[in-house]
Amino acid sequence: ILHNTLVELRGNIRVHCRVRPVLPFDVGQGSTLALGPSTTEEVVQAVNDDTVVVNCARMGNPGLNKMFEFERVHGPEDSQDAVFEEVKPLLTSLLDGYNVCIMAYGQTGSGKTHTMIGSQTEDPTGPPREAQQGIIPKATTELFRLIAEKPPDSHLVEVSVVEVYNNEVLDLLAKDEDGVCIGDKRDVITTSTGTSEVPSLSYVLVRSAADVMQLISSVLRLRARCPTLVHRDSSRSHLIVTLTVSSKSPNALALARRLQSVKKDMQRKAQKEWWSPRCHRANPMARQSGDEHSISSSSSPYHSPSLSPCPSPRASISQASFRTKLQLVDLAGSECVGMSGVTGAALWETSCINRSLSALSDVLGALAEQRPHVPYRNSKLTHLLQDAIGGDAKLLVMLCVSPTQRYFTESLQSLGFGMRAR
Ligand code: ADP
Ligand code: MG
Repeated sequence: ILHNTLVELRGNIRVHCRVRPVLPFDVGQGSTLALGPSTTEEVVQAVNDDTVVVNCARMGNPGLNKMFEFERVHGPEDSQDAVFEEVKPLLTSLLDGYNVCIMAYGQTGSGKTHTMIGSQTEDPTGPPREAQQGIIPKATTELFRLIAEKPPDSHLVEVSVVEVYNNEVLDLLAKDEDGVCIGDKRDVITTSTGTSEVPSLSYVLVRSAADVMQLISSVLRLRARCPTLVHRDSSRSHLIVTLTVSSKSPNALALARRLQSVKKDMQRKAQKEWWSPRCHRANPMARQSGDEHSISSSSSPYHSPSLSPCPSPRASISQASFRTKLQLVDLAGSECVGMSGVTGAALWETSCINRSLSALSDVLGALAEQRPHVPYRNSKLTHLLQDAIGGDAKLLVMLCVSPTQRYFTESLQSLGFGMRAR
């Protein structure tokens, strides 16, 4: 097991692509380039399990097809279940001690929220119907199914939900004295062990996938109800749902990884490099020593079935334990919003989105090229995600792409982003 662990301790970034179907709202939208009568013509096609082809013929390049290969490509006919099947093994990795991040990247309308959360029922803030559920509800269901196979009370799951808007972190589970949800500003810091932390962030103890979806629905309602409080438009902000799993009965693989992590730590200290953020980042075990609080209010770690946020410092389990994070991210729309004619707050918003997504691209590029310095701290987004991107963490980037000619430029840009991350 230890040998396999050593082999596995490499950066692990996968890129999947999902091409959504042509939808009724595509019809009647004019082509931005006015190059043809049929704006609903499909110019992006999933030709097989791992290849996307973009037909550039209409864009002044007759006969030219651009091909992009990814670990997995989903076509318009692929169901939410089919997409999740490819994601499922990451939940096992999470319980094996890896930090995991799953993020959806793409232009507004390309299917990010459909892929991550799912499509809504008649009530746009209600939970999605089961068949239409996206990765977040399916992943939490799978996580609790896997935990149910473990000894009782051995795992504890807490949820936090933040939005990154204008390079500010908003705690979407923060409540005022009257228990009303407010989007409170938070900071991101790097701890002495090199992990990223959001002080005073609200965490909610959850016991089922239904608990998680109830929280997310309340967040979606907050977004719908208080557009000025939180932000104007969901496509202009990044939504990050983090599930922190604390385990007090690590399995053999997790124990082997812990050993490995301690050994690495000692080597780093010997090399006097222990202060380097890169050396310590993405180490899920780093917090296990000196970070153990006990839940004094109850004999069981699952003391509170209620969904009220508990303030930091974080609750944790009282004996030697380790934590891993699952970060699920619905990114802001990646379309290049023109700067011309935009002023004031709108200009600031646009430049924040552009900068945070390009900071993300820089981080993924640095990891792909195995550069010694990874610029996590260039934006709040990458700083927040630092523990689950790079190192031995497992990252899945789900590129969401519209098939039609209208979004040709945006789709090419998204596919290019995906190629850079590989
Ligand atoms: P984004 O979050 O990227 O802006 P959405 O997820 O909101 O985009 O998708 C835009 C619309 O397209 C929604 O109405 C959604 O239900 C629909 N949609 C997206 N992807 C698919 C798909 N694969 N199958 C069916 N409908 C989809
Ligand atoms: Mg969306």
